[in-house]
Amino acid sequence: MTPSAQKETNSNTRTHFTSQLQELPIGSEVKVAGWIEDFRDIGKLGFILLRDVTGLVQTVLVGENLQKAKSIPRQSNILITGVVQGTKSKNFPIEIKVTEIFVFSHASLSLPVDPTGRVESNLDTRLDSRALDLRNPKISNIFILRSNILRIIRDFFSENKFIEVNTPKIIGSASEGGSNLFSFNYFKRKGFLAQSPQLYKEQLVLSLDRVFEIAPYFRAENSHTLRHLNEFLSVDLEAAYLDYYDIMNLMEELIKKILVYMRDSNYFDNENPLFKENSLNDLISIPFPKISYDKCLDELTSVGEKVTFGDDLSDSSLRKLGEKFDKFYFIVDWPLNLKPFYIHEKESNPALSKSFDLQFGHLELVSGGTRQHDVSKLKSRLAEQGLSAENFKDHLRVFEWGMPPHSGSGLGFDRLMMVLLGLNNIREAVLYPRDTSRISP
Ligand code: ATP
Ligand code: MG
Repeated sequence: MTPSAQKETNSNTRTHFTSQLQELPIGSEVKVAGWIEDFRDIGKLGFILLRDVTGLVQTVLVGENLQKAKSIPRQSNILITGVVQGTKSKNFPIEIKVTEIFVFSHASLSLPVDPTGRVESNLDTRLDSRALDLRNPKISNIFILRSNILRIIRDFFSENKFIEVNTPKIIGSASEGGSNLFSFNYFKRKGFLAQSPQLYKEQLVLSLDRVFEIAPYFRAENSHTLRHLNEFLSVDLEAAYLDYYDIMNLMEELIKKILVYMRDSNYFDNENPLFKENSLNDLISIPFPKISYDKCLDELTSVGEKVTFGDDLSDSSLRKLGEKFDKFYFIVDWPLNLKPFYIHEKESNPALSKSFDLQFGHLELVSGGTRQHDVSKLKSRLAEQGLSAENFKDHLRVFEWGMPPHSGSGLGFDRLMMVLLGLNNIREAVLYPRDTSRISP
């Protein structure tokens, strides 16, 4: 009989993350792995501050281990074997008395950014060396929070009977008729990167009822702002039998759930000015205001903005509105002419649509609405917008198979992270941002 394959074992296997050490009894033998954040040599004693993604531990060296530590550059990746002991340090609850140091790999002596944050670098330099930048806990915390919030979102949708789906990002024709598509050669024809999953998610409610997708949008927009990227993450949902008010309620409930999580895990201890000056509890307990597009026009006219019915709200208008409404609020009932062909008109006033944007101050976070599910009306809306029904035939035929009424929305996840963390540049919230001048690393 041939023996089955086995993992090779050696003594260089980590036993604990640094965050787990203080729960251990004094005298426990441990192996911790990470990088050298700092090294101090005070004669007969030396200290390595060893960091891993969960935290920092002080380790104490003497004799041969101290000699060895002197030759290992900071930021090198090492394994320390030692014993947990009490400490006189004010900064640490315990320390490790080192019995052995093993070097996994040396860091080169001059690094492109200083992950301790003592020497500051500008954002571009940090993004060029993002993997190293992430050793700074201030930075890695952004992405740990991102990951935790994505989990909250998935749980929330699953509690509400949504099914997570994955629709293609390589598509054969323009999904919403927009012009902002990246195109490329796809064997003998043209392919495009999806600018949203809009049409697929609507098709899926035919059978799956409630779906959501967390996936990138690709937009070939030549914008240079602190809130636009060419690839960004969206949380999309589509639900049969719900209308746009139900979707707004879901979005509000979801955002409040995230805020409660952040409050309870003390994420607001740090420097988010938006939440500091206002009570987070108010944000959580008071309903987000719903302001009609018409009311927005009145507000804007009263502060001297020139804007008439049917105009989109410009950046300057949104900033003015954001001064008055500086937290979360919905703008509802936009003119139908501003909305894509799949948005439903309001029965009581067909010049308006059953649509909403969720804003935080001037920043748009979500767009959503009730969808048109009457195929003949969809065809006339396409024609009104100068789009050919022929190009949408794969989509339109689904509406002849018994389509339920439905509504949905798309939430810009990176923008939400900006708001939650008080970041003023969307690039801070994205690991490897893609903008008009950045396509690597
Ligand atoms: P904007 O007017 O801010 O450019 P939009 O109305 O074109 O946004 P939607 O098509 O409604 O965007 O996309 C849904 C959500 O995705 C937006 O509400 C926003 O939060 C986010 N979003 C849109 N474009 C971008 C972008 N280029 N980069 C990052 N997030 C974006
Ligand atoms: Mg929008």
